Amino acid sequence: MKEEYMRAALREAQKAEKRGEVPIGAVVVLEGRIIGKGHNLRTRLQMATAHAEMRAIDKACKKVHSWRLPGAELYVTLEPCPMCMGAVLNARIAKVYFGAYEQKGRSLTGELAEANLLNHTVEVEGGVLEEECSHILTAFFTKMREREKQKREKEKAKKQKNQGK
Ligand SMILES: [Zn+2]
Repeated sequence: MKEEYMRAALREAQKAEKRGEVPIGAVVVLEGRIIGKGHNLRTRLQMATAHAEMRAIDKACKKVHSWRLPGAELYVTLEPCPMCMGAVLNARIAKVYFGAYEQKGRSLTGELAEANLLNHTVEVEGGVLEEECSHILTAFFTKMREREKQKREKEKAKKQKNQGK
């Protein structure tokens, strides 16, 4: 079951990728139903808060007309950042499932989940469809690096051509 919801989050991540965004997707599930979906739109919106989780939580709150989502689960393809964990706690979400583990640094997921901030703790389970979730990210960054390399080489060639004149 959790794999099925993570697949829905992965489909959201693919939407982000199609728009040239870092492919991260999330869904909020309540009583077995997806009530909010979101993908990363940070670049398109030029908004620091446009993370997949924030967008999915916003939509879920709108859907049930409540800022509280007790009993809800969040599925996200990458380990959430502290801002999104803060939103999870604010929305009183019960459990977070994430796919890939954050590689770049500490994301404080466990600490924030257990700190009892806002008098609420949240269960966290990482590594759901970990391989697929991390593959979509590494493939994206590899492609991006290749594109940048090609761009640099093109510019270099252009420069050399101009110098040859
Ligand atoms: Zn975040």
